[in-house]
Amino acid sequence: VEQVARELRRRGFRLTPQRLAIVRALAMTDSHPSAETLYEELLPSFPTMSLATVYKTLNTLREMGQVMQLEFKEGSTRYDGRHPDSHAHLICSACGRIQDVEVDPFSSEARGAIQALGFQLARYRFDLYGLCQGCQQKGASATMKAAR
Ligand SMILES: [Zn+2]
Ligand SMILES: [Zn+2]
Repeated sequence: VEQVARELRRRGFRLTPQRLAIVRALAMTDSHPSAETLYEELLPSFPTMSLATVYKTLNTLREMGQVMQLEFKEGSTRYDGRHPDSHAHLICSACGRIQDVEVDPFSSEARGAIQALGFQLARYRFDLYGLCQGCQQKGASATMKAAR
């Protein structure tokens, strides 16, 4: 957080307590919040904060490469401030939970194929869709209730 704060100041970004709270909240969570979720989380501590401030701070962090932005067709954009570098995500289709998963999606064959095309890979998105553990259990108990 300190390092990000210093970098923001260096770029002439006015680091108000609200903005610092956004940076901190994002660095602390692995829940990949949306701007709206972050806003709602911080509003009790910063009642004068606007959603626009959250968006502006997120945008600046993204430009700095300090946050990974995950855009979805359904219109919601989620942010990962803990692991700004490319990594794989497990995305629950039922509740929208996003979890990080430590895997290297590239086989040496895949890396070779990319190299053969002379392409310089900068970043990637690797989204895996399914049901999280919680939703599977909920689904199982719903099925059991229906069977009774
Ligand atoms: Zn779920
Ligand atoms: Zn992530």
